Amino acid sequence: MATSTARRAPTVLSVVGARPQFIKAAVVCQAINARPSAHRPRHRLVHTGQHFEPQMSEVFFRDLRLPAPTHQLGLGGLSPAKQLGRMVEALAEIYERQQPDAVIVYGDTTSTLAGALAASLCHVPIAHVEAGLRSFNRRMPEEINRVTTDHLATWLFCPSDTSVKNLAREGITDSVWMVGDVMIDALTQTQAAVTSGSAQTLRRWELTPQGYYLATVHRAENTLSAQEVARLLRTFEGLDRPAVLPLHPRTREVLRAAGWRAPMTNRLRLLPPVSYPDMLILERSARAILTDSGGVQKEAYFWGVPCITLRNETEWVETVATGWNRLVGTQPGSIRAALEQLPDPVRARPRPVYGRGNAATKLVNVLFAALQRDRHV
Ligand code: UDP
Repeated sequence: MATSTARRAPTVLSVVGARPQFIKAAVVCQAINARPSAHRPRHRLVHTGQHFEPQMSEVFFRDLRLPAPTHQLGLGGLSPAKQLGRMVEALAEIYERQQPDAVIVYGDTTSTLAGALAASLCHVPIAHVEAGLRSFNRRMPEEINRVTTDHLATWLFCPSDTSVKNLAREGITDSVWMVGDVMIDALTQTQAAVTSGSAQTLRRWELTPQGYYLATVHRAENTLSAQEVARLLRTFEGLDRPAVLPLHPRTREVLRAAGWRAPMTNRLRLLPPVSYPDMLILERSARAILTDSGGVQKEAYFWGVPCITLRNETEWVETVATGWNRLVGTQPGSIRAALEQLPDPVRARPRPVYGRGNAATKLVNVLFAALQRDRHV
């Protein structure tokens, strides 16, 4: 879109809207700010409002020291189709006004796809962070979001060798960069806080290391009905250790709409969404993690905590291949059987298949070099 060759710093917009995107964008922001000022793009955040509750948004901006967004679209709480349409419209207006040199989109949410669609309509080059992941399940909204975004993107920043291969299978080989996973950067940077804060956080919830399971549930396929969610919660409640479950707003809403009052018992501890450092602490000390979250599967792998994935497929296939993660689905019997065969806790960390914590620096270097080349900055 911008055709001037004036020697000003290129402008880059990051589109974020959902919890994991705040974490990913935070490390990209840091990598940009770490560049010498003459080689730093002007970087602005646009918040679509997909996640808008303070515990899902504000808390992350504070803890991860994300700069305040320059634009807040406030488009939370709509149906996915309506949300997508409104976001595309609003983002296209912003792109027209700001004339960015590139837009960065993260992961696989409605905000990712909207950011990419609006950019392609406005002829703005797109950088996709976490490109090439596939579940090969087209019923997942995330799969549609990521496939479409990859096919629109100019730069594709992959978190794993598998994601590079997935793109090649779809004929995408230009400007594909295996940089590693930016969430590993975030984890690595938060590790010291996890170590120093563990004892206090566990005390706050009266938990002991290895003495509980950590669970998360929010995927559309697992929250179709309150009955299904309730069945999962009853399974968690009947396990041999207490289960701690920070409840995603989507899951809470499904239960609330059905008038289901979640019990708060010693066996099942429902919490509101917790902060990122607290979540990492809960993960690291759990005997096992039961989850349908993509990010949490990787974090379990990073900590070397056994993971039981409440789905039938995963994008993070390396965690399964190395034996740390098992795809179990949501049947109570399968969950209980998987927990009976948990590997013993070990302190040795699994092989770092998602990079060594410098993915953001690598991708920012590639992006800035390309923008410099194009704009003669
Ligand atoms: N997370 C968090 N607090 C919570 C639950 C999750 O900070 O109460 C973090 C988690 O550690 C991971 C990210 O949110 O870094 C994963 O986000 P989510 O499960 O919402 O999305 P997904 O990764 O499935 O796209």
